Amino acid sequence: MLLEIKSLKKKFANNTVLKGINLSIKAGEVVVIIGPSGSGKTTLLRNINFLEQADSGTMVFKDKQLNLANLSNEEILWVRRHTAMVFQNYNLFKNKTAIENISEGLIFGQNRSKKDALQLAKKALDSVGLLDKQDFYPAQLSGGQQQRIGIVRATVLNPDIVLFDEPTSALDPELVGTVLYDMKQLADQGQTMIVVTHQMSFARNVASRVVFFADGEIIETGTPSEVFDHPKNKRTKQFLSAIA
Ligand code: ADP
Repeated sequence: MLLEIKSLKKKFANNTVLKGINLSIKAGEVVVIIGPSGSGKTTLLRNINFLEQADSGTMVFKDKQLNLANLSNEEILWVRRHTAMVFQNYNLFKNKTAIENISEGLIFGQNRSKKDALQLAKKALDSVGLLDKQDFYPAQLSGGQQQRIGIVRATVLNPDIVLFDEPTSALDPELVGTVLYDMKQLADQGQTMIVVTHQMSFARNVASRVVFFADGEIIETGTPSEVFDHPKNKRTKQFLSAIA
């Protein structure tokens, strides 16, 4: 196992959002989390890379045992260095060009020289056919291009896991496919990914495992065929028939 989460609990004031999550992921797996809005999917991702801090639970990541209720700053930085997140609203630096957005983490997070960082960023942009956009600012790019830059920015750091938080939900429908294509390429290259999405065809075609999440709990998990074609739980069935 690359990542093993046990009994993760999180509440905001008296709203219990995660009720004791157990989730494991092997290197190379693509886990796709589906489920109703407001059920805690984003919060779960944010608790995995410590953008939010859980109230209790444990996590083993790359063989390192972590007590989620009592993390040191070193542990937080270490986990953040080995994970990367792709956000719904891209979160690119608006006053930086595409290549600056990508090289920033290499320079400040990984202490690389500016020259090396720019070279790596260029190579990464080229690999997804966006090198011609290197000097564009986010406002000069489409939403789809911004998100594809967001994905390059995350993956150029060579993270063990990339967390995708509804990466296509802010996009115009005709741009969704371009981002999903890049995500599928990454999955095919063996990148370990946890993806929160409403794109059921992506879940069906790319997921190693689908997790149906509702009301702060994992209700059901299985292969895409198990979850989509033979859901066992009533709530999974209801959710799938509501979105069909
Ligand atoms: P989902 O991703 O499934 O749509 P979220 O994880 O975004 O769900 O939200 C789950 C619940 O947690 C919601 O009730 C939301 O209002 C609440 N929540 C999320 N973040 C915060 C926060 N920072 N402060 C207070 N409540 C929050």
